[in-house]
Amino acid sequence: MKENMTTILNKIKEYNKIIIFRHFRPDGDAVGSTKGLQRILKLTYPEKTVLLINDDYADYLSFLGGEDGPIADEEYSDALGIVCDTATAKRISNQKFSLCKEIVKIDHHIPIESYGNYEWVEEERSSCCEMIAHFYDTFSDELKIDTEAATYIYAGMVTDSGRFRFRDVSSETMRLAGVMLKNNIDTEILFANLYLKDFEEFKFESHAHKKMQITKNGVAYLFVTKRMQKKLGITKEQASASVSFMDSIKGSLVWIAFIEGDTEIRVRLRSRFVKISDLAEQYRGGGHACAAGATLYSKAEMKELIAKADALLGEYKANNEGWL
Ligand code: AMP
Repeated sequence: MKENMTTILNKIKEYNKIIIFRHFRPDGDAVGSTKGLQRILKLTYPEKTVLLINDDYADYLSFLGGEDGPIADEEYSDALGIVCDTATAKRISNQKFSLCKEIVKIDHHIPIESYGNYEWVEEERSSCCEMIAHFYDTFSDELKIDTEAATYIYAGMVTDSGRFRFRDVSSETMRLAGVMLKNNIDTEILFANLYLKDFEEFKFESHAHKKMQITKNGVAYLFVTKRMQKKLGITKEQASASVSFMDSIKGSLVWIAFIEGDTEIRVRLRSRFVKISDLAEQYRGGGHACAAGATLYSKAEMKELIAKADALLGEYKANNEGWL
């Protein structure tokens, strides 16, 4: 992996213009890794133009600051494009990434598609931010960091690892988190920004607790209808966060939130122990073994997916011990 990182560093040195990208509907890891990398490169190479240009943003992460505005198409052609935290080309928020002269992919998702000229993919990493921290740490005699950059990176490490709870958190994750913490991050302010909720969100949570259901084998699920979203005055983002309401039910090793949109139903799947990414892939999706997403176009598909998840969990429980 050092080889991939050296190639990427050499490419960064070679170009005067670098444009950074991430997946649409960004989470803390997508925002943290791209803003963290941009800040490190700006500090280290003040003579270079380092831009972060995407087509969408997430309101709940706006405390981390904004991104750069659009540029003319011709301005991409002499740039090195670096895409963080994005498994497939179609999930890249700014599709003009393909106009860049060369493309680098830095990612920790299951590699289902290759789209970069240079790729560094480590699916065992708990976050893409952990990879950016590793990149910084490997070349720390050359690269510069400050509190701002470290805060972005730490934010992604915290959120993508479920506050360092998930299985892919390793001693290396914690060591690299420590490397970031040496840069005076205000963790209390960061956690408050990340995890305090509005009153309406608590009301929605109690409503969701009443509406959620469970299958025979223990798949918990919730259908957040458009009507519910409107009635409770919640945004799509807040509706999507409901998947976490079901994450601590004993025996429910798979839980799914279905969020109704205008034309499709967004699916967010989560699990303990059970691999659910294959199921997501059957419905125009993908992701990690225990955190994946998909898109559905009918309630019939939703019913079918629930039945398949139930069968998957039934099979898992029949053949494994020690789960909770
Ligand atoms: P989400 O529920 O949107 O937070 O997604 C969980 C994980 O699955 C994230 O790492 C996403 O990048 C990934 N993911 C979500 N939707 C898709 C999709 N349609 N195709 C591939 N990966 C996805």
